[in-house]
Amino acid sequence: MAQLFIIVFIVALFLSRRNNLLKQELLQRKNMEQRLQQYASELKHSNEMKDLFADILRHDLLNPAGVIRGYTEHLLEIETDIKKLQYLQSISRSNKKLIDLIEEAASFTKLDTLGSIPLEKKDIGCIIDNVIESMRMQISEKNAKVSFFRSGPYPANANNLMEQVFVNFLSNALKYGPLNGNIDINVIDAGDSWKVCFVDEGDGIPDEFKEAIFERFRRVEKGAIKGSGLGLAIAKKIVELHSGQLGVTDNPMGKGSVFWATFLKA
Ligand code: ADP
Repeated sequence: MAQLFIIVFIVALFLSRRNNLLKQELLQRKNMEQRLQQYASELKHSNEMKDLFADILRHDLLNPAGVIRGYTEHLLEIETDIKKLQYLQSISRSNKKLIDLIEEAASFTKLDTLGSIPLEKKDIGCIIDNVIESMRMQISEKNAKVSFFRSGPYPANANNLMEQVFVNFLSNALKYGPLNGNIDINVIDAGDSWKVCFVDEGDGIPDEFKEAIFERFRRVEKGAIKGSGLGLAIAKKIVELHSGQLGVTDNPMGKGSVFWATFLKA
């Protein structure tokens, strides 16, 4: 009888311990769920703040900068005094820099909140043609020879944002390349994806900066050449949204760099 009592007592003790453990586990799970919910709402809030920040940049900062541009351009047309013209040109240059920076910061902030983008079948070759066409003026200012070696269609899963990657590669190749330089564009079949390469004849990127330049605001000191340090960070974000990769290597043919990005074939 005493033995039975002891066994019942031990079982009861065991069950009550288990019960307590289960209660503790349940409590821990509830706490974790609450923390996750709080984290999700904080994330949502921070994404909304980023959207708001991007909107403020676009609407409230870009508009007054646009007004400054309009009046400065008008004054540049009618002003004849050399000294005043120099001041106006300086205002115009600084304002252009301001507008570029605001636009790039707004796109980066907006892109940073995107988890995914819609992709559809597009020909990378047509996108590159459009980019070259839209940059004719910058190309002729630098008297550069841009050659796109196209050997057929390159169907890829793409969003219109892809254009921005090539705009960035080409404008950097022009900005950091020499006058009268050559810029070659190739699309290489890399199995599942297309590898798009922009080859320039600039000073190249030292090895220790090859990864860093794709981070926000990271620039290699380039003397008088001004920039925001955001272009490649934007390009990286867009390539990642396409599930691709990007990077830079030295130009195997001599001076300069090869900026490349891969995009999945469609
Ligand atoms: P930005 O040109 O506005 O500074 P980017 O993010 O486009 O910003 O580029 C980051 C840095 O990478 C540049 O400041 C420059 O130092 C370097 N860079 C980019 N493209 C080239 C290039 N084609 N040749 C040499 N340096 C480059």
